Amino acid sequence: MEILSSSDQNVQRAAAALADGLLVAFPTETVYGLGADAFNVHALAKVFEAKNRPHFDPLIIHIAEHDALSRIADTASLDRAAGERLSILSRQLWPGPLTLILPKRPQIPALATSGLATVAVRFPSHPVAQKLIRLSTGAIAAPSANPFGYLSPTRAEHVKAQLGQKVDFILDGGRAAVGVESTVLDISHGQPRLLRPGGTPRETIEALIGPVEFSFAQAVNEAPLSPGQLESHYAPRTPLVLCRRGELASLPAAATEGRLYFSPSTNHSEAAGHGTRVLSQTGNLAEAAANLFDMLHELDSLGLRVIRAEEAPLSGLGVAINDRLRRAAGHTTPAL
Ligand code: AMP
Ligand code: MG
Repeated sequence: MEILSSSDQNVQRAAAALADGLLVAFPTETVYGLGADAFNVHALAKVFEAKNRPHFDPLIIHIAEHDALSRIADTASLDRAAGERLSILSRQLWPGPLTLILPKRPQIPALATSGLATVAVRFPSHPVAQKLIRLSTGAIAAPSANPFGYLSPTRAEHVKAQLGQKVDFILDGGRAAVGVESTVLDISHGQPRLLRPGGTPRETIEALIGPVEFSFAQAVNEAPLSPGQLESHYAPRTPLVLCRRGELASLPAAATEGRLYFSPSTNHSEAAGHGTRVLSQTGNLAEAAANLFDMLHELDSLGLRVIRAEEAPLSGLGVAINDRLRRAAGHTTPAL
């Protein structure tokens, strides 16, 4: 499949293809998505097949106007507190990198939600995504446009290289600006729970609705010691090993090893190496997140024996960066 520019004409063609049950890879501000009409069970089945994604992993439904939410989520069944949280979060943080888990409407096929009574909904901010969704059926189910478990795509070229002929259209909307997936927050019942750290920092959510529980390890050193206990996900083909901040620069350099620094190392000659990348020259978390998958794709293409990556500071977007790095390392031994 060739990559198409996101001209009005191409977006219209892609929207018509979605309505016909075809698959369209499209840009969002987080990563590229592999879209299918959320109401078409045959199209949904093709998404799982193209990605080799297990059926127990539910999809996120993308909308492009607030009014579309009531077709997907049973918002009327929320209790008063949950309804207020939804109202605040959707008004303040949509469009943006936040996915909300809500009670599901029966119109959404069970395949999209893996049989759960809840549904994941997001309103992306990328203008091409919005136009595509509005011109199609208004609800597009889209996981990241990569084979299950592999690095997420932040450029149209990544989608072409990873999924190729399995996609009917690839729309090019430039490089993903946020660079990590959306934050997933369950507000369907009880206390709000953060299920996945992502492009909306926990601090931003808590400033609006108060404390949220979270169910993921935050620090690299909280990771289980046995690699078998780590879920391998977001992973390059090259084995990836995580280091605490500052440890990487003190290791002797080797030509066959790649390095991914969070910010510049004090050891300048080493930091200039061919298999070395720096997520942010100024130690900026947003810039680091935007570069994360891009640089991992680059390092993964160099034929290195191993990639050593250092963790980010543990606040704001650093939590999502570390989550992705830890899971990228899930298939290797976490020890140095
Ligand atoms: P992806 O679109 O590949 O970034 O993955 C979507 C993420 O949202 C997965 O981690 C899912 O487990 C999560 N998710 C989707 N739907 C639900 C749901 N109904 N309840 C909890 N998590 C969900
Ligand atoms: Mg994914």
